[in-house]
Amino acid sequence: MQETHKHVVIIGAGIAGLSAASYLARNGYSVDVYEAHTVPGGLCTAWKRKGYTLDYCIHWLMGTKKEGGFDRIWDELGALVNEDGSPTGIVNFDEFMRVQLSDGETFKLYGKIDRLRDEMLRLAPEDAKMIARLCRDMRTLSRLPFPGVIKEEWSLWRYLGFALANLGKIRIMLGYMNKRIGDFTAKWKSPRMREFFTAIVPQDWSTLAFIFGLALQENQSAGYPLGGSLRFARNIERRALALGARIQYGKRVNSILVEQRSAVGIRLESGEIVRADHVVSAADGHATLFEMLDGKYLTPVQKKAYAGWPLFPSSVFIGLGIGRDLTHLPRNCTLRLAQPFALPDGTEVTHIGVTVYHYDPDMAPAGKTAVTVIINTWKGEFWKDFVRDNPAEYAAWKTAIGQEVVKTLDTTFGNIQDAVEVIDVSSPHTVMRYTGNWQGSYEGFAPTPQAMKTRLPMQIKGLDHLYLIGQWSSAGGGLPPAGKGGRDVAIAICRRDKKRFSGKMG
Ligand SMILES: Cc1cc2nc3c(=O)[nH]c(=O)nc-3n(C[C@H](O)[C@H](O)[C@H](O)COP(=O)(O)OP(=O)(O)OC[C@H]3O[C@@H](n4cnc5c(N)ncnc54)[C@H](O)[C@@H]3O)c2cc1C
Repeated sequence: MQETHKHVVIIGAGIAGLSAASYLARNGYSVDVYEAHTVPGGLCTAWKRKGYTLDYCIHWLMGTKKEGGFDRIWDELGALVNEDGSPTGIVNFDEFMRVQLSDGETFKLYGKIDRLRDEMLRLAPEDAKMIARLCRDMRTLSRLPFPGVIKEEWSLWRYLGFALANLGKIRIMLGYMNKRIGDFTAKWKSPRMREFFTAIVPQDWSTLAFIFGLALQENQSAGYPLGGSLRFARNIERRALALGARIQYGKRVNSILVEQRSAVGIRLESGEIVRADHVVSAADGHATLFEMLDGKYLTPVQKKAYAGWPLFPSSVFIGLGIGRDLTHLPRNCTLRLAQPFALPDGTEVTHIGVTVYHYDPDMAPAGKTAVTVIINTWKGEFWKDFVRDNPAEYAAWKTAIGQEVVKTLDTTFGNIQDAVEVIDVSSPHTVMRYTGNWQGSYEGFAPTPQAMKTRLPMQIKGLDHLYLIGQWSSAGGGLPPAGKGGRDVAIAICRRDKKRFSGKMG
């Protein structure tokens, strides 16, 4: 690839920032990434405790199957190639998750539609018609290819051809996209089905967010990469470095420098100024717009989004190391608590999400098992003051909730309490501290029908040479849009510099 000698500064080494670094470096740019934390990955992370790996992020990854969609981006980024050159193993689950219901039944959410249909008919025979329609639509959606992933190769005519050929599928997709899951939930006769949907999806989200995820399970294109989140991030980092990108850790960016309505560089927390031809922010969207740019350059749609769009929750996360083989347990379940409790921010906890990592040998020493528990909260901001003003209370709460969760797991599954080797608790405060995400949200703007229909701009009109990517750039967040954002920004910058973009490595 021909060197352009143009310099790009990227803020943040999450998956979006690493992806942008990788694609820009291979297109001849001189790339510097500044990352506040000491490791790559941002939210896509994990940490070690006494030989256990407590994984915070990946439960399923869109694009794990070779089919010309997001897989191509992961391929170009080297995301699924391990340090020793071996391909990352992918696990597809027969049973995606199970949910405990109040009448003592358990709903098993199978990945394959036929099995899922039988399970729904078992639990809700009175909804046979709804079930048939849902399964038919999911099957149809599972066959919808992803246009637009490899944008630069598609002409307008090809897009139109694609749209015409897939008109029926697109119509079904838009129908679900425009429907709130609350309205969809209300249509079921069975109280079990209504309880199920209410327990696992916020009711103001688009129904598509739920159905599309399941459709991907049908054709096994969203599996789990063995080694988990940090390995995935390290794989992308390794290729970006090999291509010549430079990444500096422990360097927080305080502001984006603007001269004559053009971004010309950044100022680090240390006061150091770095000038650049282009600035890409792959950091938290709110901090970029309201702190690094002082709230001076918002488009109308950004103003609206940050003023009122619902967000993904933040979380209380409990990582456990259990000195036992727990292969007999379900790998992922939503447990209904016999005795709900409240978080310090007032959130009433009625369910907890449990993942038992027996399917990934990298997560625990032989014969032992890492278990993680996630509790959602939408009150991220509360935690900043709480932790600052009440450190002793916070520490005591962490101990108490860890024990409470262990007790619940012991009551539900048995044989846990006396084998606990690690209890590690983090809160929305931890998310904000280590990743800077607004309100500790773990995927940015929630996929409501309104947000899914609105495009957030990568560039701000009238502010040249600045690009915003990452999970705050489209509703629904997640790793695929982060990886794609890095590719799209490289395409946009190449176009701006009248260069031909290439996704290839050299
Ligand atoms: C519990 C959990 C489960 C999830 N499960 C899945 C899943 O199964 N599948 C999936 O696809 N997605 C999942 N996600 C979502 C996914 O992890 C995120 O959407 C994605 O990682 C966001 O990447 P990003 O690069 O846009 O942002 P981030 O990961 O937030 O990266 C931003 C980076 O910028 C850095 N930064 C911020 N401010 C500054 C500054 N001022 N100066 C320098 N650096 C700065 C941060 O430290 C961070 O490293 C999950 C997330 C969580 C938390």
